[in-house]
Amino acid sequence: MRPNIHPSARVDEARLWDRHEQMAAIGGFVNEQGHRGVNRAAFSAEDIGARRLLIGWAKARGWAISSDPIGNIFVRRPGRDPDAAPVLTGSHMDSQPRGGRFDGIYGVLAGLEALEAMDDAGVETERPIDLVAWSNEEGGRYQPGTMGSNTFVGGYDFEKMLATRDGDGIELREALAETMSAMKDFAGDLQDRPFNFPIAACVEAHIEQGPRLEADNRTIGVVTGIQGIRWYLTKVFGRTDHAGTTPLRQRKDAVQATLRVIQGFNELMHDPDDVLRFTVARMFVRPNAPSSVANEVEFTVDFRHPDIAVLKERGDKLPGLAAELAAPCTVEMNEMMNMAPTVFPDELINTVEAATRNLGHPYMHLPSGAFHDAGYIAKVAPTTMIFIPCKRGVSHNEAEDATPADCAAGAQVLADTLVALANR
Ligand SMILES: [Zn+2]
Repeated sequence: MRPNIHPSARVDEARLWDRHEQMAAIGGFVNEQGHRGVNRAAFSAEDIGARRLLIGWAKARGWAISSDPIGNIFVRRPGRDPDAAPVLTGSHMDSQPRGGRFDGIYGVLAGLEALEAMDDAGVETERPIDLVAWSNEEGGRYQPGTMGSNTFVGGYDFEKMLATRDGDGIELREALAETMSAMKDFAGDLQDRPFNFPIAACVEAHIEQGPRLEADNRTIGVVTGIQGIRWYLTKVFGRTDHAGTTPLRQRKDAVQATLRVIQGFNELMHDPDDVLRFTVARMFVRPNAPSSVANEVEFTVDFRHPDIAVLKERGDKLPGLAAELAAPCTVEMNEMMNMAPTVFPDELINTVEAATRNLGHPYMHLPSGAFHDAGYIAKVAPTTMIFIPCKRGVSHNEAEDATPADCAAGAQVLADTLVALANR
């Protein structure tokens, strides 16, 4: 054992960047503004193309390749103890229909780079390290998203997932069978893995998909957790009347009531630290005619925060406040989703932070605003994430961008973190 060698020293920025370019060519297109996007739907020909590339790179290193029943790919770099639970790293390779070149694929390629750097540095670990590419994170073609990781941990029923259909009516069962048979061809020897095998620890690298690292000039985001969400469908009921004849005092105007309700919500949700996320983004007005007072407004409320206490306290106040402010109109508020925040364990956060400090990269702690596969794996194993900046925080967009140096810095932190965890 040569414990003093850090594999980060062998992270190869050019190799990592070249792999992004090769992946970006699969499903790649150029939009109206000249930005290079990616359209790589889960279990499509493009997804299969990405799997072929990844499996080819893994084979070139002589690493064993396996897959569970939903097509999650695992590439194993062996440890000294073949029976020890592995440390897991990776993300997803599918994209939104108009996605970018980094969301998801960065975490897979940074993980691959970390493993290659370990080989190149001659680093051995006690535990094996498995690189994972989770199936269908984005949910663009088959819903729900985070299908691979949440089915892996038992959150989604596998048989139900198989029966889902895409917009063309193609059953997932069929698209998955095609994907699996292609993978068997590429891998030669594709081993079977069960769902939910024991995992010692999991680290997912990802672009931030938000503007905070860039704004603060930090290279690395030490991710503390994933914020929770409460999502409501709100309906305000009034009465439709003639806009020309009905005195305002006699109206039950659903649009005016909605304005009062949203204004009240804004005051309740005010956060001087700007951590809280509150959004009203979809609205229907009925009858939606210029000369008729509205009798109904339907709107969505999307409320997110990393602290469960804030989510509970303020979220619970919304229905009562709405009823009070909407009078004389009435309100019906239904909670459609309530997901608690994920809090990553201190031990893993500290390991990432130590690796980052050791490398001298400027960093900050932050919660993830978006959902990730890591949020589901966190239910069964100690898990954390590493963020790198993305240009202006833009993601799920062809303009998504990151620099070769930041990509390499994240892979360095990941490599040293994985070795520390795999020797524990
Ligand atoms: Zn992603």
